[in-house]
Amino acid sequence: QLFKVSPVLSVCVVEGSDAGKKTLYSRAVTIQFRNEEESAAFHCVVQQWKKEVNTQEGNERIGTITASKSKFDEKIESSSAKMYFHYYGQLLHQQNMLQDYVRTGTYHAAVIENRADFIGRVVVDVGAGSGILSLFAAQAGAKHVYAVEASEMAEYARKLIAGNPTLAQRITVIKGKVEDVELPEKADILISEPMGTLLVNERMLESYVIARDRFLSPTGKMFPAVGRIHMAPFTDEYLFIEIANKVSIPKIVGDALAHPGALFWQQQNYYGVDLTPLHGTAFQGYFSQPVVDAFDPRLLIAPPMFHVIDFTKIKEEELYEIDIPLRFIASMGTRVHGLACWFDVLFNGSTVQRWLTTAPGSPTTHWYQLRCVLSQPIYVMAGQEITGRLHLIAHNAQSYTIYLTLSAKMWGPGAEQGGILQTSSCKLDLKEPYYRMSQPQAYALAQDQQQPQPLIQTQDIHIQSQDLDEAEIVQQPSPNSCAQIDSLMQNV
Ligand code: SAH
Repeated sequence: QLFKVSPVLSVCVVEGSDAGKKTLYSRAVTIQFRNEEESAAFHCVVQQWKKEVNTQEGNERIGTITASKSKFDEKIESSSAKMYFHYYGQLLHQQNMLQDYVRTGTYHAAVIENRADFIGRVVVDVGAGSGILSLFAAQAGAKHVYAVEASEMAEYARKLIAGNPTLAQRITVIKGKVEDVELPEKADILISEPMGTLLVNERMLESYVIARDRFLSPTGKMFPAVGRIHMAPFTDEYLFIEIANKVSIPKIVGDALAHPGALFWQQQNYYGVDLTPLHGTAFQGYFSQPVVDAFDPRLLIAPPMFHVIDFTKIKEEELYEIDIPLRFIASMGTRVHGLACWFDVLFNGSTVQRWLTTAPGSPTTHWYQLRCVLSQPIYVMAGQEITGRLHLIAHNAQSYTIYLTLSAKMWGPGAEQGGILQTSSCKLDLKEPYYRMSQPQAYALAQDQQQPQPLIQTQDIHIQSQDLDEAEIVQQPSPNSCAQIDSLMQNV
């Protein structure tokens, strides 16, 4: 393994094994180059050589050694990974997920209802955390479950599993990343909960896909098998004013300027200091945070559309950049403040198919929903077409940069010319959301509102898949659970 420690200095670590004694020796050599070009050229040759030996058949020994830097480490900044696994190593964060009864209850139901898929099968739990899904799989009759967990939580999972002796004999906890660990046999089923905010946050779907390619037999199943990102434009004057007010922008409507915090960065005499040089930066900053909360689905102003991610087929690299063209028809005349997003995943069991949804208006989960707010809202009339693009680009801190553009076409006289009247764009960092939970809950099901919103019902369009229509379709369990509103942190 070759590490670059400065433009001209590298360290090479070689792991050798003394076959007879089964001992490993590591040796390090520092290499000093005369200039940066020589260093770059050397690294380039080594990369090329690694690729070649890895693709050569029958040369497994060299292949294993050169593959020692895992796919995970190559693309994720080590400081991000360190914080990430530290977070999941703490029991309170696992408890937060376990106490999301919509989430955990749906997983339990999906596994138990589909016993036929688990009985006598080998299962891998990808990112096992507390080990809960491994225990469910064992309850459903799995022959053996490999619970792979990279954080210190692996130790607690061992303890929890050992305390459930009837199941423990069929579960092995393996501490390590799914990108790195070796398993003694292929799996019939992968089970995992790799979803983050907007489905893709944390970039754990990539690990799920890598685990599929490394461990799953070609005829194996994935629980869940499919994910969908749903999107719809929304209007929310209160939210917009709340964000704008943190920095204050000129010509805010209504009583916004009276709100505490208004004009903060426009003060020219803050303890004798002029704050205005940072006004623009603060403005950018607030609008670059996607808002996470539960909102009233009546704020949606068009039927939602969705983007499908098929976990059984997608290539890992295809998750590095996700580009979604948008098109909606406004169902009312209003100001559009941005794009609301949520997701669902499908347990495509052979007995029962079940969706776990995080839609607004459905029982709230610890993921809530996500809204990207435009600093320049656009105006639409009922029936008007809204087009745009949601472009997600993965970054090495286990999240995505979000580029959103929404445009409203010309309306009324002159529309035949087909020009675009207004367009508004924003760039957000999915890693830095604004958790808006201290606000009163926007969504409370009123007595006269027991029916789900008509706009939302349109999401349940079936996925085209060979074996999907064989089984019964079930939505998530009845709203038996209360919202986990008091927990501020979600899957990081
Ligand atoms: N399966 C548990 C935990 C889900 S949270 C449950 O449903 O309650 C996701 C877990 O996956 C975390 O504990 C995290 O540490 C682990 N994880 C994330 N990426 C991983 C990887 N590449 N290899 C192994 N574990 C990983």
